[in-house]
Amino acid sequence: MAAQPDPTMPAVRRARAVLYERWQPRGKSPLFTRAPGRLNLIGEHTDYNRGYVMPVAVDRAVYVAAVPREDRLVRVWSDQLDAEAQFSLDHLKDRHHDWARYLQGVAWALDELKMPLVGMEAAIYSDVPRGAGLSSSAALEVSWALAMLQLCGRSLPPKQLALTCQRAENDYVGMRCGILDQFASVFGQRNTALLIDCDTQEIQPVPLGGKGFSMVVCDTNKPRQLVDSEYNQRRASCEEAARILGLPSLRPATPEMVMAAREALGEERFRRAWHVVTENARVLDMAEALQRGDLETVGQLVSASHKSLRDYYEVSCPELEAMWAATQRAGCYGSRLVGAGFGGAVLALVSPEEVGPFSRRVAEEYQQETRYQPNIFAVQIADGAEVLER
Ligand code: ADP
Ligand code: MG
Repeated sequence: MAAQPDPTMPAVRRARAVLYERWQPRGKSPLFTRAPGRLNLIGEHTDYNRGYVMPVAVDRAVYVAAVPREDRLVRVWSDQLDAEAQFSLDHLKDRHHDWARYLQGVAWALDELKMPLVGMEAAIYSDVPRGAGLSSSAALEVSWALAMLQLCGRSLPPKQLALTCQRAENDYVGMRCGILDQFASVFGQRNTALLIDCDTQEIQPVPLGGKGFSMVVCDTNKPRQLVDSEYNQRRASCEEAARILGLPSLRPATPEMVMAAREALGEERFRRAWHVVTENARVLDMAEALQRGDLETVGQLVSASHKSLRDYYEVSCPELEAMWAATQRAGCYGSRLVGAGFGGAVLALVSPEEVGPFSRRVAEEYQQETRYQPNIFAVQIADGAEVLER
């Protein structure tokens, strides 16, 4: 069989070039790591409610090229940000206030595990857009963790790797994300979606085997506003709803239970809980529909997720609605806003041969309606994070 061209090659070359341009490491051969971004097909705002999610890893990734240093200094250059940072492994408590805190946070979490970390010079090359629903932060953390571990001759079992990166983001960066992003980046598999149970942390691969849809990311390019406070309010409402229902979380709640308790919950908590319980059911239905190859149902579930996020979880915004309406008019199996909401992207599942005309039409209509220039691109499902052998 003829060897497949390796799509990661140009990215790795770029990472190597950045490393050499920037740090001129002599006589040391660099190591390379890759960790992909992810898309969540369905299961939005369910992760922190101990529910179900269904991400895929995508063919956009954060690459790290690195060489060790003799001392405890870490120097790093980010090609995408055109910025440099440095920190000492001896002073991990002195936090950076910008992007480097993700790297420091990973170092801190690995240090807590007593990993014998060493100083390094590193370059980051990434084609994962930031804040577009592809989870660039988790890709960055996972790629960086793999590089730090590899340089000190250690490794972690995949689950622990993902949880360590999540810990860095939760406890060091201060972002209370669930396990979705890091699990997807670590466990992703080509042509496979991952059904993740965020309660038990079990992962069930759902093979897609050429089921015939392309994933098109339609980024509104609208800067997110108010996300943190709205996110915390949604979390709090869900926790209160579970408490009123007498449950440890919304996970064991069913739509019937939530409907029956509508009055006790009050309208706002009812709406939030309703989204969560119906969304959990949609994720499980999606796994079955994918296995049957029933793309009509897959698409309907995805669009139903959007309507629920808009009407019950109330995390949409005019730009997301303009984009969503354009995707629906342009013709797709289904589409929905992805990520926290209030900006970010719409994901559309599109017939592969329609991707070109679909993207052009959506871009045109969105731009006419809003003052933003959208960023529209198709992604493929890819394998999870790895240390590259070259
Ligand atoms: P996302 O949804 O993309 O994960 P986040 O706000 O969680 O959005 O994370 C984005 C942040 O991660 C950026 O603001 C930056 O601090 C960091 N980051 C992501 N990619 C890179 C990169 N290539 N180089 C440096 N920092 C990055
Ligand atoms: Mg993130």
